[in-house]
Amino acid sequence: MTFAICSLDQAVMEHVEELLEASGITEPPVHSLDVANHLGFPVLVDRNQPTRGSCNGALAVVYVREGLHPKHQEFLIAHEIGELTMSTIERRSGEEIDDGHLAEVMANRFACQLMVPHRWFVDDYWRTGGDLETLQGIYSTAPLNVIKVAIGALLAIEGEPFERAA
Ligand SMILES: [Zn+2]
Repeated sequence: MTFAICSLDQAVMEHVEELLEASGITEPPVHSLDVANHLGFPVLVDRNQPTRGSCNGALAVVYVREGLHPKHQEFLIAHEIGELTMSTIERRSGEEIDDGHLAEVMANRFACQLMVPHRWFVDDYWRTGGDLETLQGIYSTAPLNVIKVAIGALLAIEGEPFERAA
């Protein structure tokens, strides 16, 4: 059973694959700071940062609050990279992301995809029998919730395990 992926999700996947390749990242875990470095986005860790994470589009700078859990910080940096590169997702999808809420949703989807890229996760999921602990060890920079999102997306795209086995 296969579900169609919407053009925005497809664009996110392609954008992530391109970024990983350009950043020289060939296997998990993905450190979003490496991707930010590749893109030339300075990441400033600041204790006075009012929100947990933000970015300045004009300066292409990412801000994260000091003292966050490392996995949370990884996710926030990934989210802000998504915001700073949203025009690539728009261009690839041919869709305009002109709504603030949608932009946040897409930045989160980008972050999930960057930390747990679908292409790798498909193999790792089936190979490990979907063992959450093993997957957390492989995708060691990703928060547990992000791995759960990846599992949900994978099963929506590929079908339940028993269907695959049949
Ligand atoms: Zn945001």
